[in-house]
Amino acid sequence: MTKILHRTIGTTLPRAVAGEGIYITDSEGRIYIDGSGGAAVSCLGHNHPEVLEAMKAQMGRITYAHTSFFTTDVAEQLAEQLVELAPNGLDYVYLVSGGSEAVESALKMARQYFVEVGQPQRRHIIARRQSYHGNTIGALATGGNAWRRAQFKPILPETHHVSPCYAYRDMPVGETPEDYAERLAAELEAKIIELGTGKVMAFVAEPVVGATLGAVGPVADYFKRVRQVCDKYGILLILDEVMCGMGRTGTMFACEQEGIVPDLVTIAKGMGGGFQPIGALMLSEKIYRAFAEGSGLFQHGHTYIGHPVAAAAANKVVEIVRRPEIMENVIKMGECLQAGLDAALGQSPYVGDIRGRGLFRGVEIVADKDTQQPFDPARKIHSRIKKEAMKRGLMCYPMGGTIDGVNGDHVLLAPPYIIQAKQIDLIVERLAESIDAAVK
Ligand code: PMP
Repeated sequence: MTKILHRTIGTTLPRAVAGEGIYITDSEGRIYIDGSGGAAVSCLGHNHPEVLEAMKAQMGRITYAHTSFFTTDVAEQLAEQLVELAPNGLDYVYLVSGGSEAVESALKMARQYFVEVGQPQRRHIIARRQSYHGNTIGALATGGNAWRRAQFKPILPETHHVSPCYAYRDMPVGETPEDYAERLAAELEAKIIELGTGKVMAFVAEPVVGATLGAVGPVADYFKRVRQVCDKYGILLILDEVMCGMGRTGTMFACEQEGIVPDLVTIAKGMGGGFQPIGALMLSEKIYRAFAEGSGLFQHGHTYIGHPVAAAAANKVVEIVRRPEIMENVIKMGECLQAGLDAALGQSPYVGDIRGRGLFRGVEIVADKDTQQPFDPARKIHSRIKKEAMKRGLMCYPMGGTIDGVNGDHVLLAPPYIIQAKQIDLIVERLAESIDAAVK
């Protein structure tokens, strides 16, 4: 009997023994297509030779240098690349060890920023319902997933939630996207006023929502309106691109497609392409200056930040992802995936919506397509799809059950950026079979 505890305690899992390209092999010799990149992590597939080489080279030099004593060339090169690629204005990089740590660091930085600029009363954080921003206590509290937060209540009392931008469920027929964006901006503004206009420090959102909603992008102008509201009330806009960043949606940063620049952006997952500890927080000049010219009391930092081997891996991953042919493939194969899903599942009575951007696609599963009625959460359709898909040699990322009692089940697909059309066809075929088997 194995002594290791899995994410769902008490379950057994196949044992992964090898990975190459888009495939993982288990100890029984079964081969799986990694249709979700793990959890939107393996953007270049498994064991990419150039990334392995970069890591090996770094291992032959130095494997750990605490960042209170040293910087390293690989960490500096990584930061330079990120700044070159980020929307103008995000000129500084704070390396961290992963997604939750990036979000946690953003919250702590926002809080300390307002202390530095003489507004310590700004403590409230507004995020969105049905969101996920990580599993550490601050990130978990910021996430608006009622089910995940429930057992930790009372959780940070300064966290509040407004509606996500989720057109499939919340934009009624007859409402235009502009009106919908306006309505959500008004809701945000009302929440700020309710909490006290000088009391809110940050609004946190994922530009394209991954794990909790399944590749749900915003309607046009939503983020422009959010940016305007934040500016009106002097609130920092923190965008969480841990999952949707690093080219996943067809641009290096998902917010580029919204035409806005946040004050802080978090990235992780795809940035390391499967190697940890790595993630980053990127910030604007205004925040940097507050610390660089401030009290000197900035207090933060974890043991593994800027880890040289992880930084070498990420530096190579970013160098590869930014090659034009990679992003072209994300866009082309993303369209191919959407077309394949539309053709195979578009008519299914159990598929309500198929959406997404780049190689980040979601399929929403419903009990009734016409009424959009979700399945009874007790049926755990998302878990059944995952089981059926694994039987057929497909890794996909289903989520659902009761999220605030409303949104039901969905499947997220986030395959590696190197995927080819034939492999997309296999993903679609296996997913369609798995959904069929699961809903019976
Ligand atoms: N933010 C978002 C949007 C995420 O999807 C995740 C992970 N699913 C996190 C934060 C947390 O990242 P990690 O698991 O690396 O801590």
